[in-house]
Amino acid sequence: MKIVVTVKLVPDPNAEKRIDSATKRLVRSGVETVLNPYDEYALEAALQLKERAGGDTSVVVFSMAPEALKETLRKALAMGADEAVFLSDAGLEGSDVWATAYAMSQALKKIGFDLLIVGGLTDDGSTGAVPGALAEHLGVPCITNARKAEIADGTLRVERETDSGYQTVRGPLPALLTTALTFGEPRYASLKGIMGAKKKTIAPLTLADIGLDLAVGSDGAKMQLEAFAPPPARGKGRTVEAADGAAGAQAIFDFLKEKKLV
Ligand SMILES: Cc1cc2nc3c(=O)[nH]c(=O)nc-3n(C[C@H](O)[C@H](O)[C@H](O)COP(=O)(O)OP(=O)(O)OC[C@H]3O[C@@H](n4cnc5c(N)ncnc54)[C@H](O)[C@@H]3O)c2cc1C
Repeated sequence: MKIVVTVKLVPDPNAEKRIDSATKRLVRSGVETVLNPYDEYALEAALQLKERAGGDTSVVVFSMAPEALKETLRKALAMGADEAVFLSDAGLEGSDVWATAYAMSQALKKIGFDLLIVGGLTDDGSTGAVPGALAEHLGVPCITNARKAEIADGTLRVERETDSGYQTVRGPLPALLTTALTFGEPRYASLKGIMGAKKKTIAPLTLADIGLDLAVGSDGAKMQLEAFAPPPARGKGRTVEAADGAAGAQAIFDFLKEKKLV
């Protein structure tokens, strides 16, 4: 069985982010690039499924990003992925969600998979729109927010986390799965894993390799970023001094009542 995990390479979530006002794009220089944290959960799910399935199950990570970020994928290989495929091409620059999902889907068709595991959300773009679009382009079922998954007799059985509990659903393979953060903490890469990752393959793919029928990059984008603004600065807040706990609790209650929150 072949499990493919999509991994976006994103700026360090703890770094201060800046948008270039001329290009309206995120400034990546001077900021460390990391694996999108949600995708580490997707990779953990894939590695757990591989451990349970045994045999000839393999885990392949796939990413689409500028060439300079390629080596960031070694961390996924160090965590236990068997190989990586990296789609990079100047023609992808300016791709919006639609163009991104279309290009990714054509690359994923070429790679092939029995199960595609996607993180569900990125730390930078955060649209959460890519998984559904991928499932549509690939013509496979899309099972979201999984907290547990198992595969038996070619069927995928998943526990989906919901606001009120969880649902158990079943679907055929090939399928697309997105993972909830309750699937399991992503494992640390061991020293052996880090050393082994140096010898693993990151196979390059370009647009010429995947042969697209429709335009991608800025030519294929159906959406334009018109304007952006940072969130408003937070006010100073109100400090209340109370004589004792009861007076403090009353002051908090009065404040919440004033805001119509109780
Ligand atoms: C007009 C426009 C122009 C843009 N131009 C650029 C540009 O030039 N360069 C640029 O970097 N971004 C650009 N973007 C942003 C880019 O379109 C989004 O980053 C991309 O569509 C993914 O959306 P998202 O981050 O919201 O993913 P989400 O839908 O939140 O991601 C869900 C999951 O999809 C998978 N995924 C998403 N993207 C990738 C990826 N690239 N590789 C592997 N897995 C992935 C991950 O597993 C992730 O957990 C542009 C956006 C717009 C609107």
